[in-house]
Amino acid sequence: MKRTTWVALCFARRFHSSALAPSVSVFLVLTLGVDPLHASEHRIWEEFSGDKALVHVERLVDLGPRPPGSETIDKSRDYIERELRMFGWQVIRQAFTGDTPRGKVRFLNLIARFRALASTAPSFLLCSHYDTKTFDTIRFVGANDGGSSTGLLLELARVLGLHPNLAAKVELVFFDGEEAYENFSETDGLYGSRYFARQLADSGTGKKFRGGILFDMVGDHSLDVTLPTDSPVEMARDIFASADALKFRSYFSYFDREMTDDHTPLNAIGIPTVDMIDFDFAWWHTADDTIDKLSAQSLQIVGSVAAYYLSEFALKQGADF
Ligand SMILES: [Zn+2]
Repeated sequence: MKRTTWVALCFARRFHSSALAPSVSVFLVLTLGVDPLHASEHRIWEEFSGDKALVHVERLVDLGPRPPGSETIDKSRDYIERELRMFGWQVIRQAFTGDTPRGKVRFLNLIARFRALASTAPSFLLCSHYDTKTFDTIRFVGANDGGSSTGLLLELARVLGLHPNLAAKVELVFFDGEEAYENFSETDGLYGSRYFARQLADSGTGKKFRGGILFDMVGDHSLDVTLPTDSPVEMARDIFASADALKFRSYFSYFDREMTDDHTPLNAIGIPTVDMIDFDFAWWHTADDTIDKLSAQSLQIVGSVAAYYLSEFALKQGADF
């Protein structure tokens, strides 16, 4: 039934500007028994593919460990950029040098905006980190930690790209240097998001963003997304409502404490940002954070809930949260 509805909508949209539109829609309604007028125009959550997201993660993991400043992170960057461009996004490289416990390291955030619709400025951030933690003693490929959220964000980019009016309201950010070399502190970890937030604050352009979602570790086949207690209350409520609408509510709950992650610097400069994270992952920061621990179904659940939330709450006309 849902599939049938979607076929009707696709055709109706394709013929929208054509003089044939009314007759084609009527024909499809009669043929398929579906009334496009009563279906939501943007059921974008049905277009999200967990399988496609997982393919992106596989491509990244196949490159091997991707720590900041490495040749492999360069390659992962090229991959992310190539895919984004294919989906209609323009990519800006935000490069900077950070002081780390291992000396100066060159980091590079990727910022993507949908090909310019002059009338719309992005007002919502969707973020993921794409670096993997630096280890000297293990081979860490970060399938879940660094890979899963990046794959999911690339698939969201594809889906949003099919709806230019929605895509134009969004800025995608792929952070480098999320991981700490030693321990998270004011000066170690979150290099990319701290730099990104500081640039926004210093230039006074942060105000244009009304909110954001950070994805992190969202591919565990035993999915249990826990929103940290520092999540902006209204956003968390609407995300739970989105999960409920899609019958995925049981996969989402509150975490029992705050979380330090790339959303922290954004919240600190006044951009309410939720961290969609499943921190209950037995292989976290081990050599066993590998692709076999992930499932397309988990990516599908998080991706469709996020898409539903964007379409029905955050990016909805006149939305205010
Ligand atoms: Zn990590």
